Amino acid sequence: MATKKLPFTKEQIEKMMERYPTPFYIYDERAIRENARHFLKAFSWMPSLKEYFAVKANPNPYILRILQEEGFGADCSSMPELIMSQKVGILGENIMFTSNDTPAEEFEKAKALGAIINLDDISHIDFIDNKSGLPELICFRYNPGPLRAGNVIIGNPEEAKYGFTKDQLFTGYAAAKEKGVKRFGLHTMIASNELDYTYFVETADMLFDLVLEIYNKLDIKIEFVNLGGGIGIPYNPDQEPVDLNLTGQEIKKVYDQKILNRGLDPVKIFWECGRMITGPFGYLVSKVLHKKDTYKKYIGLDSCMANLMRPGLYGAYHHITVLGKENAPADHIYDVTGSLCENNDKFAIDRKLPKIDAGDVLAIHDAGAHGHSMGFNYNAKLRSAELLLKEDGTIKQIRRAETIDDYFATLDFSEL
Ligand SMILES: *Cc1c(COP(=O)(O)O)cnc(C)c1O
Repeated sequence: MATKKLPFTKEQIEKMMERYPTPFYIYDERAIRENARHFLKAFSWMPSLKEYFAVKANPNPYILRILQEEGFGADCSSMPELIMSQKVGILGENIMFTSNDTPAEEFEKAKALGAIINLDDISHIDFIDNKSGLPELICFRYNPGPLRAGNVIIGNPEEAKYGFTKDQLFTGYAAAKEKGVKRFGLHTMIASNELDYTYFVETADMLFDLVLEIYNKLDIKIEFVNLGGGIGIPYNPDQEPVDLNLTGQEIKKVYDQKILNRGLDPVKIFWECGRMITGPFGYLVSKVLHKKDTYKKYIGLDSCMANLMRPGLYGAYHHITVLGKENAPADHIYDVTGSLCENNDKFAIDRKLPKIDAGDVLAIHDAGAHGHSMGFNYNAKLRSAELLLKEDGTIKQIRRAETIDDYFATLDFSEL
């Protein structure tokens, strides 16, 4: 059972609401730091362990700074994400650039920053070589296709748009070596929000085998394997978090057997997790505007799917706490909705909750990754503010709410 506790009380939230009207996101710095340390400790045996936080999960410079202070790098996949890392001071090989369908200028920016460039396709070798020349270090993203089963979010590897086939991997390393590349990495990411730790052990096992095969066939020493992201979190209280210590121990066994015992040089191990780093430590706080009683009972919030689209997009479960009613019996059944003109716009369907009244404030859990960052402006809805609950208990606004002027900023009314 995953416990769903809040790091703040109803009174504290009401105080924040005097300054920062709902809806807003709030992140728990202490919990993010503790979790980051726990993550690194669980894998500390790994040679030159590095976790590159997937910036897309929570692209906020304050969050990146916290993680940088804990020793994390940044996994970027777009120009603004690269620039954000640069502005925070995450530079050089502390940046992993894992993009796909990438424009030339992003490769150039990544190269200029000294980032590790992780190619999604074999054709990108020539694409970069012809534009700006290949860097000294290059990494390839492997898609095992029918050799592995995927999961719901990423889908079957064979259906997934990412990565090189196995044959392409060998052709690609040989071609890159031919073109003067000196250092090589190997990456894969074939699951998302996966709670079964054996998946990651199998992925490591598969990559360690490939390290040997690449060495034998091409005389290329893989310097690092990047296990990707995708470690899941228990969105539903019935689920269990991934046991990181156990995952680490099991990967170590495979590493010892497949790398050390075969006499291969040590291989660095990297991760690029996003969700499990910040996900459980962010909350969307929203107020009940209306109650509606038709064929079903609805609770209408002052936020919507534009603020958190995972329930609408994936049917994802996000736990909900009604502030001040934490211990009241969950003896009502509601659909909790937003205000979009879009029937998918529901945070919860047939959810058992305590009796809710207009004006109640709800905390939607596990919104610290792929939450605010997935937000969009459909129906001209504005993205909310983000607040940081600092370790000393004070609140810092780390992103202001969008205004109507922001929304109109890209439009030109002058010639109407
Ligand atoms: C999204 C993504 C991640 C992070 O995934 P999480 O599920 O947040 O851990 C890491 N690497 C790549 C290439 C991604 O696209």
